[in-house]
Amino acid sequence: MVRVQRLSAAWELSAGISHNLNNILTGVLGPAQILMKSAKDTDTAERAYEILDAGTRARDLIRQLYTSTTQSEFEPEAVDIQQAVQDAVRNARPRWRDQTEAAGIQVRVTMGVPDMPRARATQQGLHDILINLIFNAVDAMPNGGEIRFSAKAFCHKVQLEVLDTGTGMAEEVRGRLFEPFFTTKAEIGTGLGLYTVYHTIRTFGGDIEVESEPGKGSTFWITLAEMNVDSELQQKSTDTVGPETDRCRILIVEDEAFVGNFLETALSDQHDLFIYENPAQALDSIAKKSYDLVVADLGLPA
Ligand code: ADP
Ligand code: MG
Repeated sequence: MVRVQRLSAAWELSAGISHNLNNILTGVLGPAQILMKSAKDTDTAERAYEILDAGTRARDLIRQLYTSTTQSEFEPEAVDIQQAVQDAVRNARPRWRDQTEAAGIQVRVTMGVPDMPRARATQQGLHDILINLIFNAVDAMPNGGEIRFSAKAFCHKVQLEVLDTGTGMAEEVRGRLFEPFFTTKAEIGTGLGLYTVYHTIRTFGGDIEVESEPGKGSTFWITLAEMNVDSELQQKSTDTVGPETDRCRILIVEDEAFVGNFLETALSDQHDLFIYENPAQALDSIAKKSYDLVVADLGLPA
């Protein structure tokens, strides 16, 4: 809860700040451009160029932050995880293979993602998430290593595991890695990668977890709901009439009258309620009749 609240506060703050900063930077970049074009001597032109260059980098950073906070409405798509992993690995190849080969190290990628139910996400969103995780894994493996993808489906969920054999993380890093601007990569890091990843996954209604120890690599788990296209459509068409449920026989054992009254008000439209204040009577009743559900105050004496 604390993590979610802290991150959503940070999220709102950055959405506001990035919008304002973007406007302010326009006031810097515009004049710098004019100055550079109209400069009469190279010295002035060079200074103007420096302002432009630094300003442009700041603007790019802010744009990245801005677009990450203002994603448009989430329109769920049924995403094939296996395909998404293949695409991301292929598109990130210049980073994990070509660049590392050029640096004389070897990074291997293995994919053990089976055929699975489709996940509730967006194609583009999941792609960006995977690219981010791959880049981070490569950054964490200055001496080479392995990135391993695997996945499983359970309880109408699909879970993707992304493991790397890199440097791993200390406790302080692991606790903060989803925060905006948190980076341990002094020169090259923006600290926005995992921040965006986290928020995209939350938009999908999913979750991301991480396990890591220094020297032992890192593992990220992304859990997404399974998307059943038929039921999702059906859901839409029945939304207005409300879900149909079977009537259940519910036994309530509760000596606080207001709790019993509340449950009665809340549930008796849809279900048949049997409320007992006395546990012995409730037990007696269970022995004689059948119930679909028992809701009992466990603090009551038997
Ligand atoms: P950036 O990559 O720009 O630093 P991220 O938000 O992508 O920002 O990551 C934040 C920090 O989390 C990184 O600086 C790094 O310290 C840590 N981190 C992320 N992924 C890994 C990983 N696979 N292995 C080790 N550390 C990681
Ligand atoms: Mg990153």
